[in-house]
Amino acid sequence: MGPESCFDFVKLPKTDLHVHLEGTLEPEMLFRLAGRNHIPLPWKSPAMLREACRFRDLAGFLAIYYKGCEVLVTEQDFYDLARAYLERAAADGVVHTEFYFNPQLFCRESTPLAAIMRAIFCAMDEMRDRISSFYMGTVMRTRPVEEALRALDELAPWYDRIVAFGMGGAENGNPPSRFQRYFDACRERGFRTCVHAGEEGPAAYVREAVALGIDRIDHGNAAIQDPELVRLLAERRIPLTMCPISNLRLNVVNELSGHPLKRMLSRGVCVTVNSDDPAYFLGYASDNWAAVHRALDLSGAELRQLALNGVEASFLPEARKAVLREKIKRVLPSA
Ligand SMILES: [Zn+2]
Repeated sequence: MGPESCFDFVKLPKTDLHVHLEGTLEPEMLFRLAGRNHIPLPWKSPAMLREACRFRDLAGFLAIYYKGCEVLVTEQDFYDLARAYLERAAADGVVHTEFYFNPQLFCRESTPLAAIMRAIFCAMDEMRDRISSFYMGTVMRTRPVEEALRALDELAPWYDRIVAFGMGGAENGNPPSRFQRYFDACRERGFRTCVHAGEEGPAAYVREAVALGIDRIDHGNAAIQDPELVRLLAERRIPLTMCPISNLRLNVVNELSGHPLKRMLSRGVCVTVNSDDPAYFLGYASDNWAAVHRALDLSGAELRQLALNGVEASFLPEARKAVLREKIKRVLPSA
């Protein structure tokens, strides 16, 4: 055990580059909003909902996740969600977050898109001094590419507030290449691109993401099975936003000691630590850092590299990156 074994990861200035705003809906807030909006729930209490969060796989998780999304109805609901997440992340030592939000999940007459976007950007602006944040659009890979293109168009009024577009949802049978037109359209409009790949899907999907010119890959675990691909990721410094606790809860890995993060890091890949859906996976950013440090016995130098990778992998301007690098180096000086 190194001297960092007792390190308080809340004190580490961190990025969280792979987090879904919908996945930050804590059971208590979920129940409060359900009551406010008169929406029946299949669970009797927040504790029972937490109990239900023992998922076998991604599909089991998504069923509960989409149910949770149903309670978000009014502008106030979306504001409360975004504000609570940013407060919690800031308290957790996250200095910069890039979060996904998918308006496709909330296409109801009762909830105008403009109200949702206003609520989220309002919370981001109010919290600006405590945590910098970027909004990323995302679409579902289980739906047709035409729908993804439509979702991209619908966000046009807010393009100046959006930094990137990604894609998530059940992975197997829905390879990134099927969405080439969507990613091309994102790039043409000046956005950075991300895609979930190699979580439950194969290394071949990560390869496809690289071939598509994707800027940042979410998860990417399966790439470890393809040494040539690992070399390519390292050479091009294509970041992987890994989510250790999420992987454990969804049985992407049986134990964190078998997580590929450390092996990828040692081969020069720009791997980062992130939270994914912290309310449902019962772990925020610093919990992920502590868990992966404990399981993989990371050295001080490795922790420092991981933290710096988070800054490198972010879509921040260089000036802000330089500030964050200095913050990290003050907390984790090189030996
Ligand atoms: Zn994700």
